[in-house]
Amino acid sequence: SPSRRAVAANDRPTISFELFPPRNPDAAPRLWNTIQQLETVKPDFVSVTYGASGKTRVTTRALVRRLLRETSLNPIAHLTCVGTSREEITTIVGEFLDEGLRSFLALRGDPPTDQSDWAAHPDGLQTASELVELLRDIEAKRCADSPSQAVRARVRPLSVAVAAFPRGNHATGGTRAQDVASLLAKQEAGADFAITQVFFDADDYLGIVAEAREAGVTIPIIPGIIPTTDPARLLRVQELTGVPVPHDLLDLLGSADDELDRHHRGIRASVDLVNGVLDGGAPGVHLYTFNQHHAALDLLEGAHLDGGARTAPDLASWPQDTAPAR
Ligand code: FAD
Repeated sequence: SPSRRAVAANDRPTISFELFPPRNPDAAPRLWNTIQQLETVKPDFVSVTYGASGKTRVTTRALVRRLLRETSLNPIAHLTCVGTSREEITTIVGEFLDEGLRSFLALRGDPPTDQSDWAAHPDGLQTASELVELLRDIEAKRCADSPSQAVRARVRPLSVAVAAFPRGNHATGGTRAQDVASLLAKQEAGADFAITQVFFDADDYLGIVAEAREAGVTIPIIPGIIPTTDPARLLRVQELTGVPVPHDLLDLLGSADDELDRHHRGIRASVDLVNGVLDGGAPGVHLYTFNQHHAALDLLEGAHLDGGARTAPDLASWPQDTAPAR
C-alpha cells in the first residue's frame, strides 16, 4: 500500500498527536487553541479517539469534520468494535468517508466497565483485524459501486492503522507474544502501520519491534509517547492501561522544587525516551497530548523535532501517494 511505503520511506521522523473530542462545549475553544498550536509544527497526522462503547460517535465525527474543513491537518479517526453490529460500523465508516476522511485507526476496544470479559455484539466483530478487513471491504465496494470514488481512491488510498502493545495488552491479559501474533493478523488483514500503547522504557518498544520483525511483521510501528510532566496523569494512565510508571520517574518528578522544575524534569525524561526510540530506528513519534499542547511542543523542541529544526514538508503540496496515513 502506498501509505505503508510512505511511513517506512520517510526520510525524517514522522510527528503525530492524539486528541480526544471535547468532553463538553466549554472545552471546545480550549481544544481548538491547542489544535492551532499543534498545527504550527506541521504534524504528519492527528488521531482522534473514539470513546468506549461508541459514546463519542457524534463528537468524534464533529471534530474530524472540523479538522478536515478548517485546518491543514490530516486526521485519523479511531474506531472500535464495542457494542456495534457490522452493519452499524459500516454506516459509521460511510459517514466518515462521506466527510472526506481517508484514515482510520482500527481497534477492537475494551468491554464496557460493567462487563468483565470481552463479548462481541451478536452481529459484530471479534477482533481489530476483522475491523481492518471490513474497512478494506467497505472501500473496495464503494470503489466498485462508484467509478468517481474509485478515481478519488486512487489519488488518496485508504490508510488503516492499528494498535500494538510493547508490554503486552494488560486490558485483555494478552502477552507480548500474543500481541505480536495479533499484529501479524492485522497486517495480513491490510493494516498499513501500527501505533503503540504508552511505555516508559525504550527497550520495551525496541523489544516488540524486534519480536514483530522476527514474526514477519513488516509494517512501520510508531511509538506512542506520553510527555511525562504530570505524575497524577501518569498514575491515571497506569490505572487505565496497566502499564507501570517507573518509580525512578515518579521520584524524579516528585522531588522537583516547583511546577516549572517538574515540567523541565519531565520533558528531559521524555526527550531521552524519544531519542532512545529514534536512535533504535523508530520511524517517528506519536504524542499522547491529553488535549494540551505545551508539554508536547516542549518535548518536540527538546528532541529537535519541532518545525524549526526539521524540513517539514508542505502537506498540501506533498504528493498524495507519499504522504503518511493519507
Ligand atoms: P485486538 O488486536 O483485536 O486484540 C484483542 C485481543 O485478542 C488481544 O488479547 C489479542 O492478543 C487477541 N488476538 C486478536 N487477534 C489475535 C490473533 N490472530 N492471534 C492471537 N491473539 C489475537 N480504546 C477505545 O475505546 N477508544 C480509542 O480511541 C482507543 N484508542 C487507542 C489507541 C491506541 C494507539 C492504543 C494502543 C489503544 C487504544 N484503545 C482505544 C484501547 C484498545 O481499544 C484496547 O487496548 C483493546 O483492548 C485492544 O484493542 P486491539 O485493537 O489491540 O484488539
